[in-house]
Amino acid sequence: MADSKSCQRAGCSRPAVTFFRNETLCIEHFCTRCYEFLDGIDRRQQLNQAAPGSAVEHVLIADECARRALDICMSATILNNLERARLLDILLWCGDISNAHRPKNVRAEFKSARVPYEKPVLKRHVKSTRTVPF
Ligand SMILES: [Zn+2]
Repeated sequence: MADSKSCQRAGCSRPAVTFFRNETLCIEHFCTRCYEFLDGIDRRQQLNQAAPGSAVEHVLIADECARRALDICMSATILNNLERARLLDILLWCGDISNAHRPKNVRAEFKSARVPYEKPVLKRHVKSTRTVPF
């Protein structure tokens, strides 16, 4: 990496905000790259052309997209409204992909594992009130 401060894409001199899929990218190119991945995954899902075993890869890509997007959101990078909207859109889209690939029995397990809310109880250690004789 010659210059880690600027985007790796040809002809782009915008400051880099993240490292995604082996590329140092500016916000603009990060969003574009995410949309390319997510759109491709979505299209394959809709056409049912996803190769067997690709579900895990799709979830991993979606997971990385989401983590990078979140990193940018939580960093000191100043974002305009469009960039904020794109990052949120990417996060939600990644969530959709993860949920679509989650096996139904796992989802059922999550539901059954949910326990009713219990009010926290402050447990006091009852100290012995016995007085120490002098
Ligand atoms: Zn760029």
